[in-house]
Amino acid sequence: MALVVQKFGGTSVADPDRIRAVADHVARTRKRGNRVVVVISAMGKETDELLRLAGDVATTRPGREMDMLITAGERKAMALLAMALHDLGVEADSFTGSQAGFITDTTHTNAKIVEVRPDRIRTAVDADRVPVVGGAQGVAGETHDVTFLGRGGSDTTAVALAHALGADICELYTDVSGVFTSDPRIVANARKMERVSFDELLEMTANGCPKPAMRSVEYARTHGVDLHVRSAFTWETGTLVTKEDHDMEQAIVSAVTHDTDETKVTITGVPDRPGIAARLFRALAEHDINVDLIVQNVSVAGVTDISFTVPRSDTAAAERTCAELVEEMGATSVLTDPDIARVSVIGAGMKSHPGVAAKVFETLSGHGINIEMISTSAIRVSCVVREDQVEDAVQALHDAFRLEHGPVLAD
Ligand code: ASP
Ligand code: MG
Repeated sequence: MALVVQKFGGTSVADPDRIRAVADHVARTRKRGNRVVVVISAMGKETDELLRLAGDVATTRPGREMDMLITAGERKAMALLAMALHDLGVEADSFTGSQAGFITDTTHTNAKIVEVRPDRIRTAVDADRVPVVGGAQGVAGETHDVTFLGRGGSDTTAVALAHALGADICELYTDVSGVFTSDPRIVANARKMERVSFDELLEMTANGCPKPAMRSVEYARTHGVDLHVRSAFTWETGTLVTKEDHDMEQAIVSAVTHDTDETKVTITGVPDRPGIAARLFRALAEHDINVDLIVQNVSVAGVTDISFTVPRSDTAAAERTCAELVEEMGATSVLTDPDIARVSVIGAGMKSHPGVAAKVFETLSGHGINIEMISTSAIRVSCVVREDQVEDAVQALHDAFRLEHGPVLAD
């Protein structure tokens, strides 16, 4: 008998019909001889609505109260699903994150899991009941206050619970049928991947692929929890996410992702001497600004430019921090440019296969797309381009690597 963790996202449980459809699926999974543990998100756009409501009521947002508010969304959904299961004759019990044993730190609105003690969940499963766990929530070990794990945190709840219970598989149900070679809204011939490795999916989620939440993929990779990303609308087989199998042939390029949510910051006229970059990036880190993709130009006459990207929401903070340092560093000015986007080509096989970067650059230049910044990892090539050209870039690269046909394998 397999133990399956099934996580349902907001759109999967957006209304009463959807909740009943999910209950039906859970009941069928059990009938096939599996034990099921469910993790559930808030219904539809409920989390956004609760956040908006908070803004309408007050300007101060104490973390403790925000978490109490936001976690109410999942609490409502889990009770409703448990009722729908009872209607089908399936014994089910809902559990808050705290009841399910999710102990976190005290970082309200973005808490980290410290430990999972799923005793009550295990007891319920052993009694042949279906536990329905509220996603993205826990309880702070120190203060005993309710905590929220952050946006997309239900994926992490599901993966962490699957690991703690030693489940056979963690199924992440969503409104798309799996992980695609590119965003299907942009690339009409994007293909659903049958399989993808943790490493590749982690690069994809770090570079613009919105689902599953990056943190959950990291957790799955660290703890070796196999994932199945699939649709709660068509119920068809989706994409399996597993450890890279060395017997498996590796695709040179598996996917093309893009991210339009960054700003480029440039500091001009920076004196080229030891300690300057250290000073700058320390200051940004102290302001909790997550810097990515850094480029420093060759210096001319002892002066250089430094450019880097930051999440768009951190633009103002980054600008302020840099402006404060310009004088101290003896630099000239700070420029910000929000109209950029990053396109990334990802594939485990490129580790052992030269020429991928060259082909990326040739493809972009062939489409008249200028590259402003470049960064690579062992299994990724990313380019920063003008935002209004990024969709062309994604389609051109998807075509160039023939991703609609299935993976080109490395020798
Ligand atoms: N409902 C929360 C959100 O939308 C948590 C989750 O679903 O992962 O971010
Ligand atoms: Mg969600």
